[in-house]
Amino acid sequence: MGYDLERFVGYVNEGLLCCVCRDVLEDPLQAPCEHAFCSSCIHGWLIHHNSCPEDRLPLDITHLRPLFRYMRNELARLQLRCVFRPQGCEVICALESIHRHEQQCDYALLNCSNAGCPVQVSRRSLEAHLCVCEYSSRVCASGCGYTILNNEEAQHNCVSELRAELDMLRAELDCKVEEVRHEMESRLDSQRRHMVQKESLLRSEVDELKGQLSRVMSDVRILLGAERARRQELERAELEKAELLELLKREGLRPATPSEAVAAPPAEVPRKPSPRSLALDCIKRKNREVTVI
Ligand SMILES: [Zn+2]
Ligand SMILES: [Zn+2]
Ligand SMILES: [Zn+2]
Ligand SMILES: [Zn+2]
Ligand SMILES: [Zn+2]
Repeated sequence: MGYDLERFVGYVNEGLLCCVCRDVLEDPLQAPCEHAFCSSCIHGWLIHHNSCPEDRLPLDITHLRPLFRYMRNELARLQLRCVFRPQGCEVICALESIHRHEQQCDYALLNCSNAGCPVQVSRRSLEAHLCVCEYSSRVCASGCGYTILNNEEAQHNCVSELRAELDMLRAELDCKVEEVRHEMESRLDSQRRHMVQKESLLRSEVDELKGQLSRVMSDVRILLGAERARRQELERAELEKAELLELLKREGLRPATPSEAVAAPPAEVPRKPSPRSLALDCIKRKNREVTVI
């Protein structure tokens, strides 16, 4: 599409108008028949036609050439108004520099840079708009640390915001504490059960060992009694043997007579009867009896 003829100041040569859109040529090309067109206009036309839109002569896209140099120069020198004239720009400049101007024009319409804001504003008023834009956000100046949008600023209350956050954190903390308590309790419970099992096991082992010990003790007592009896028996046997030997020795020196054996009682001093002396007497008596026979 070409430049709107209305924007141009002064006379514009008819040859500089596009044969398709009838506006001033933009990015121009010309056909062998010397008719000129905007690049986009003639490319669009040739999709559905194969002839010049002005004189119907055959035309193919490969036949298109740049515009004559003198026409390009004439075109470049045409004076026109800035496209942002409706926004207040009064600039008029040559076509060759209009693009450069419009890119930096203070009245150029820009989208507000805040996400979500639908406002379009001229470059020169953007700063003023950003100060009042509802979608501007900034960190609260009172120090609560929250980022607030401009339109929320009136309702913003640091204390209630912080209190709400505190309540939330407290609830979270309570929840966590409860969880931990529950876990500890269940762990303790299982340990307690384990201990009780172990205790009853140990108790039954102790009972078993006690039983074994008392059986061993009674065995030991019986063995000790037997041993004592055996030792007494042995002692007695030793004594009898010794006395017998003594007696035999004495008998060997002085052979006994039956009368003496009967008549003469032993010339020993009477003494308290003891198991030993009784045994001795018994042996002596036996000995005498033997001698008598
Ligand atoms: Zn055109
Ligand atoms: Zn033509
Ligand atoms: Zn401008
Ligand atoms: Zn905005
Ligand atoms: Zn605040």
